[in-house]
Parts: sequence; C-alpha cells; structure tokens
Amino acid sequence: MRKDVRILLVGEPKVGKTSLIMSLVSEEFPNVVPYRAEEITIPADVTPERVPTHIVDYSEAEQTDEQLYQEISKASVICIVYSVNDKKSTEKVTSHWIPLINERIDKDSRVPLILVGNKSDLVEHSSMETVLPIMNKYTEIETCVECSAKNLKNISELFYYAQKAVLHPTGPLYCPEQKEMRSACVQALTRIFKVSDLDNDGILNDYELTLFQRTCFNTPLAPQALEDVKNVVRKNLTDGVRDNGLTLKGFLFLHSLFIQRGRHETTWAVLRRFGYDDDLELHQDLLFSQLKIPPDCTTELNHNAYLFLQSVFDKHDKDRDCALSPEELMDLFDVFPYIPWGLDVNNTVCTNDQGWITYQGYLSQWTLTTYLDVQRCLEYLGYLGYSIIAEQESETSAITLTRDKKIDLQKKQTQRNVFRCNVFGGMGSGKSGFLQAFLGRNLMRQRTIREEHKSYYAISTAHVYGQEKYLLLHEVFADFDFLSETDLACDIVCLIYDVSNPCSFESCARIFKQYFLDSKTPCMLISAKSDLPETKQQYCMTPLEFCRKHKMPPPQSFTCNTAAAPSKDIFIKLTTMAMYPHARLRCMCTCNRCTFCLCQNFLNSELVQTVRTKIYTVIFSRHITHADLKSSTFWLRASIGATVCAVLGFAMYRALLRSR
Ligand code: GDP
Ligand code: MG
Repeated sequence: MRKDVRILLVGEPKVGKTSLIMSLVSEEFPNVVPYRAEEITIPADVTPERVPTHIVDYSEAEQTDEQLYQEISKASVICIVYSVNDKKSTEKVTSHWIPLINERIDKDSRVPLILVGNKSDLVEHSSMETVLPIMNKYTEIETCVECSAKNLKNISELFYYAQKAVLHPTGPLYCPEQKEMRSACVQALTRIFKVSDLDNDGILNDYELTLFQRTCFNTPLAPQALEDVKNVVRKNLTDGVRDNGLTLKGFLFLHSLFIQRGRHETTWAVLRRFGYDDDLELHQDLLFSQLKIPPDCTTELNHNAYLFLQSVFDKHDKDRDCALSPEELMDLFDVFPYIPWGLDVNNTVCTNDQGWITYQGYLSQWTLTTYLDVQRCLEYLGYLGYSIIAEQESETSAITLTRDKKIDLQKKQTQRNVFRCNVFGGMGSGKSGFLQAFLGRNLMRQRTIREEHKSYYAISTAHVYGQEKYLLLHEVFADFDFLSETDLACDIVCLIYDVSNPCSFESCARIFKQYFLDSKTPCMLISAKSDLPETKQQYCMTPLEFCRKHKMPPPQSFTCNTAAAPSKDIFIKLTTMAMYPHARLRCMCTCNRCTFCLCQNFLNSELVQTVRTKIYTVIFSRHITHADLKSSTFWLRASIGATVCAVLGFAMYRALLRSR
C-alpha cells in the first residue's frame, strides 16, 4: 500500500483554490484568504482511506515556474481548478494546464487529474457539457466534480475523490474509450474466480460467495445482500446466474458495474486481497517470499499444505479417475501465468496406464519441487491462492524446515519424510532404468520414453515399517571427475554396475573410493540387469568382496526387465537405510526367504496395510466435518494412531535384529 497521498491544486488565479483548501479545513467559507495556503497534512486516521494526505496550494503570485514544476513532479494527484462562471478559466484547462502537466510528468507514473469546477453557487446551469468532451479526450482525467467553496458543496467529496484516484485508480481497470474492463483486469478477475470456485463447477455458489466476501472484506454477507447481488446480475444478463450461483460472466459483469458506478475501490479491494499490485501484476513478495534454509536442513510440505493440494487435485479431477488428464492439468494451470510442468514430469512421478499423472504422482511432484526449489514451490502456491484459500498468513506457512541432519544423526532418529538417494554409475549401467523402475515401469514401458522427455529425477513413496515416506532418486551425470557438493549431499548413495559388462564395476569402485570412502552417508551397490548372464568384473576383487571390505551391504541384484512392474523391495530397503543410517541392517539380501526379508515383506504386505487402514478408519470414522478437521483433538487422535503403527513396526524390527 502507498505511503501517502499528495494532492496539488493548480489553475488560473482567483478561481478559488486557496478558498477550497481553507473551506475544507475550517468547514466555513473564509472571506479573506492569502494568495497561497500553507501545505497541510491530514493524519491517516481522519481520512476515509486511512492514508496520510498532504494538500498543496499553488499561487502564480508567490511561486516561480520552477517551483510549480517541482510541485507537479512531486504530486500523486493534480486537481485542475476552474471557475464555472469564468469561461476563460475553463478554456485554460485544455490550452494551458493539461499540456503543461503532461510535459512535466512521466507517462508511466500515471498521475491522475481531476477537473474541479468551483463557484457552483454563482450559476444555475452545470458546466458538465463543456467538461465531458475534455474528459473523453484526456484519459488521464480520472473524474470531474463541481463544487463551491462558499456554500461548502462537494468539498470533502472533492478531496475524497482525489485520494481515491491515487489509491484506487480506474486507469488499469477500465478503458474509457472502449467502455469496458481492460484485458489485464479481466484476466486477474478470472483467476480470482477460478481460485474461489472451490468445486470448479464454473459457478460461485452461496457458500463460495460467502467465503469470498469474508476473505476480501472481512465481513459476512447478509443472505438478503447475497440475493440482491444475484438479482442485479439476473436483471442485466441472461447467463450471469446459473443454479442460483454466479457464473464467471456474472462475476465480471458485477465488477464492471462497480467500476462504472465509481465504486472501483471494491474491485481494487478484491484484486489487492488476491495479491495484485497497481499494475495488476501479482505482488513480488507474495510470489517470492524469502525463506532462509540453513545448511543440512531440507524443506518439506506440511500437512496443511498437502490437504490444500489434495483439494486442488480433487477439484480438477472431474472424472474422478484419480489422475489428471492433459485437459484437467491445463485447467489446473489456468491460474498460472505459464505452464510450470514440462513433459519430463511424467517421467519423474507415477502415472497411470495412459501416462497421466496420478494423485500419488501429483503429490510427489509437489514434494520434489518443495525439496529441490522451495522458492519455486512458494511461487506456485501463490498462484493457486494457498494463503488465501487455506487462510494462512503467507505461503511460507506451507513449509516445514527439517531439523539439521547432524542432530538427526546424533539422536538416531528423524522426523523427515523425504529422503534423497543419489544414483551413480558408468554410462549405460542402468541408472535410468533403475529410476524408472521405482515408478513401476518395466523395460518395455521405458522404451516408449522419448529422449527429450527424460528425467534425471524419480520420486515416489515407499512404506517403511508402516510409515509412508518419499524417496527421491537422482541420477547423477556421468562425469565423475567433477562432482559438486550437491551431487554428493544425500541420505543414501546408490552405486550401479551392469552385471553383463565386465568394465562396469570398476567405475563404481572408483567413485566410491574417490568420494565416499570416509563419508558417513550409507552406500548400496546395485548389480543391475540381473536378467542378463553375469560376466566376471575386471577388478582386483569381486563386488561382494569389495562390499565386505568396505563394510557395505552385499550387492543387490536388480532388473527392470520384468513382465509386470519391477519389484519395489530395493527401494524400500534404500529408504530404510536412509531413515536409519545407524541401524546395522545385517541382512540386505533379496532372498525373500530369511526372517528379515519375510518380516519386511510382512510389514509392507497388503494385510498389514489393510489392518492399518482399518485402524485409521476406526479412529477417523466419526463423521469428519470441517470443524472436526480443524479441531486439535482430531489431529491428536490421528497422530496417536500413526505413532502406534510406527512404534509397533519399529518394535518388530528391533526384535528381529536382536533375534539374529
Ligand atoms: P485562488 O487564486 O485560486 O487561490 O482563488 P482564491 O481562493 O483566492 O479566491 C478568489 C476569489 O474567489 C475570492 O474572492 C474568493 O472569496 C472567491 N471564491 C472562492 N471560492 C468561491 C466560491 O465557491 N463561490 C464564490 N461565490 N466565490 C468564491
Ligand atoms: Mg490562491
């Protein structure tokens, strides 16, 4: 919001500029006035718009041209005063004052002008006929007003209009020549409509309208007022109201009506609440809220943000197939100024058989953006109207900053939900196949991926002891002589070699020795392409010996050349290792026969998952309402449920380790 408003009065001598100011201040007509009134400042709390306002007089007798020009350049609004009973003073408005002002001010600074016809007490007729053509010719003229300093007519109105012209200019909203809203304004209002249309049915129903009213004006809308609004639209427009709700057309009509009736402060209030600045662009600080991320901390979305994103998904998944078709996705991004996701996203997260992003994939992509580029995530949340719809102070309240990893390691436990696994390996060793397998795609399916849609990330969920965690796989580019800090910073390292290529293991061993020999990050060796005949690796020891020597778990066989979706076991193991880097997971085999494997499979089995869901349903079942979702006891119950599951899972795991 602007800091203060500076109103300058100019015009021919004796038109009554000084008298107008004195009349406003003393509320009576002064018979004798000086040439020029002192600058006065009206404190914020006595002005209608609550902004400090300065009123500045001009007198040709007392000021030089240079001083006048200076005042013009400082003004935020200029009132050109003429006297309604003095034709010459009116002519001077166009022949002298407007050109002079236009020469002195920057076109872009958009200083509004107001035409003020003073001494209306002296004439019977109105000067509007002369003034309207002038207004039509110069769009910088915001409005005109006739007043009288003598009988105090329209004096406070005049200064109110001047204030309003600065704070709520019509220029960006409305094109007076075309007599319609400008396209930027229509665009902004359309976005606001879409964000406020919570069920995305193209209609603002009573519930949505009430919420909208409360968001923008902080006061509830009386039921009668709601009906009145709809009736006005009904009367003027055939399809402005549908199913007793306001359509986009009706919503836009209502705003053009506000503007035409000089109530554009209403439209501005709506625009500003939704983050638009005077140029109708989204506020930079809304989109680029600064969040400082200390080293060794990561960023995750909190529960509230997931709930919001879930509602956004739901409102766009019109056919309820739990996936977003290209059209549905475009509709979702309609409130963005650009399409944020490229086609690589489809190969970064889970999709359905048609290649459309599933609900799970959608949340994964948000998790990824939050983790890798939190600034961008905040920007996207801003476009979706998160802070407004979820009634949060700012977009940053969607973010959880995780605890320093060093503390996690010290305390041997973590509250993180996202774990990063960097994947290394020589060219063609099967890294991409490994990433895609995590998204449930076998080799056949992977062959359909176009080169330009390839992704170096894959993110999805993995269940570890009954808890759902995100595992983020990142394929590190194969130039291993120059690895940066970020290439190395992760929760777990995967080294992949190709069992069918005799030279493949050597590069894994080299990377390990060069970068991870003394590192605290756990490492896992993957023997990829295990469906192919294994050849002896050209290295001084076998991969198994290498793992033993460096206290790594034994190499894990892996193939994505499967008939169905590749197994997820390895990814669960990786997530487990990332979560508990201390725990000595002695058994890292994939035998599926030993107690560890059986138990791990059991914990992740459908039976346990169903039981878990049942427990949740029992806890949650008692009619979840909106109020319920907000109540703290509800979340207490929910988190106790989750904790019980986690503790049970962990206890089983501990018992197992001990028994071995
Ligand atoms: P300025 O030179 O533009 O500042 O004009 P002044 O305020 O000095 O006014 C010039 C003359 O017009 C004075 O004699 C005022 O009393 C008179 N005057 C100002 N406003 C009005 C008005 O609204 N009605 C009438 N009848 N006289 C006015
Ligand atoms: Mg004067």
